[in-house]
Amino acid sequence: MLGSAYFYFCNQQLNGFRYVNMDYGICQALGFMAGLTTVIIMYDIACQWFVNFHKRVKTTPTLHVPKDMSLTPAVGKFHLGAHIDSCFALFSLNFIQGAGQLDGEIIETLWSLLDRSASSTRVMSAAARQETIDKIMNDVNWRKTVGMGEITLHCHCSHLYANFYF
Ligand SMILES: [Zn+2]
Repeated sequence: MLGSAYFYFCNQQLNGFRYVNMDYGICQALGFMAGLTTVIIMYDIACQWFVNFHKRVKTTPTLHVPKDMSLTPAVGKFHLGAHIDSCFALFSLNFIQGAGQLDGEIIETLWSLLDRSASSTRVMSAAARQETIDKIMNDVNWRKTVGMGEITLHCHCSHLYANFYF
């Protein structure tokens, strides 16, 4: 079964270029999708991050991928333009079966919402700013999750409408 789910991560690289936060977030999200056999993971640097992902999962007791789940890494269309040419064929959503017409640039839709909080978060301590931004992103995640059916219905209706009249 092919399924799709959208999760929004703000991945901060700590101590250089580690993937611990992304690995943990992805594994937690995948845990909610047990039963799906194919999952497409869209991430701005999936071409680098996915290289040793299964090795890290295997060697880290807190990381798990549901059994019989196949993961397909993809890079969003906006970010893919800044990658090396060989990434295009391997990680473009254009060539991944089941991806449809996704752009894979979900997190960027949050930027305008986060901009509104900039005037208050810029005067906060680093910890308070991080906590506030996390709460805002959690709220946006929650609102998008509960509104997903409505968005999907709207998209399908718009598509049907466009096909019917044009
Ligand atoms: Zn790349």
